[in-house]
Amino acid sequence: MKRTLVCGAGGFIAGHLIERLKKEGYWVRGVDIKAHEFRDTFADEFLLLDLREPEACRQALTLGDSVIDEVYQLAADMGGMGFIHSAECEIMHNSILINVHMTHHAAEMGVPRYFYSSSACVYPDMQPGDPEMTEVQAIPANPDNEYGWEKLYSERMLQAYARRYGMTVRIARFQNCYGPYGTWTGGREKAPAAICRKVAEVAEGGTIPVWGNGTAVRSYTFVHDMVDGIRRLMDSDLEGPVNIGNPEYVTVKELVDTVAAVSGKRFQIEWVEGPVGVQSRNFSNERIYSTGWRARYPLAAGIALTYPWIEEQVRSARQA
Ligand code: NAD
Repeated sequence: MKRTLVCGAGGFIAGHLIERLKKEGYWVRGVDIKAHEFRDTFADEFLLLDLREPEACRQALTLGDSVIDEVYQLAADMGGMGFIHSAECEIMHNSILINVHMTHHAAEMGVPRYFYSSSACVYPDMQPGDPEMTEVQAIPANPDNEYGWEKLYSERMLQAYARRYGMTVRIARFQNCYGPYGTWTGGREKAPAAICRKVAEVAEGGTIPVWGNGTAVRSYTFVHDMVDGIRRLMDSDLEGPVNIGNPEYVTVKELVDTVAAVSGKRFQIEWVEGPVGVQSRNFSNERIYSTGWRARYPLAAGIALTYPWIEEQVRSARQA
């Protein structure tokens, strides 16, 4: 039985990943600076550790006299565009410390296989319809935000350690990911969760504010698809960064319309100034497709599974 460490186990994607790893029969240790906000962890063992500390990383990686077989590193100081633009120092400081220490100690302690969650934010801004970017085209680099620069540096650091120590590394660049059991309020939520919350909160015929003018183009990947991509990539022989994203590109207006259709509510949209981020991202999935991965959840199907969960959170919060 493989013994895995999942970092960021109190978070959204890692929470779903642990559920999947358990179904596959893995022994899982989860580590996070906080417990999961929305559900019990499926991990065999859960440690509260601050992975910015070198000693915490060593503790997370140690299993008796031996070392963990596989690491999934998803811990990050993380949020949607509102957070990314207001907390750039925290992101640059905290996430880089986590990755510096986790990478160094995993390599030094002889971890055989290591997964790292990077982001499509490493790519520059694009216009809708621009040719698809492949992974190598992230360099020369011009990410739109500091979160993207941190990811790029961490990717390169990991690859340097892989070369020196012979550690097998797998790096995914995630597109926007959404689904149940993710942050839906408080300032760190991402666009799909924020829109679902606003729609759940608005009275019939009311108005919801949405950042920008609705024309920005995005790809939204349902969390079960993302977890499937993570597992296929980890078991593959794909070296270097690999994009994972739903090839269904939609505008922010289409995202709002999809949530409206699922909710069955009628409301107005007020387009307001806000940190929208890039205009578009259009990137190639050919590398992850070579593993047999395909996105199975169109946006409407994923929102149909996400909106009811957020609606329930809104209802519970009102009653509390
Ligand atoms: P999340 O915020 O839900 O999970 C991250 C977890 O890391 C949190 O539970 C947090 O408490 C934990 N963490 C933060 N600082 C820590 C520390 N010092 N020590 C231990 N744990 C710490 O985020 P998520 O959406 O699940 O994202 C997971 C990974 O995927 C991150 O690396 C993120 O950058 C990447 N990613 C996510 C998306 C997305 O759309 N959600 C897109 C691209 C990349």
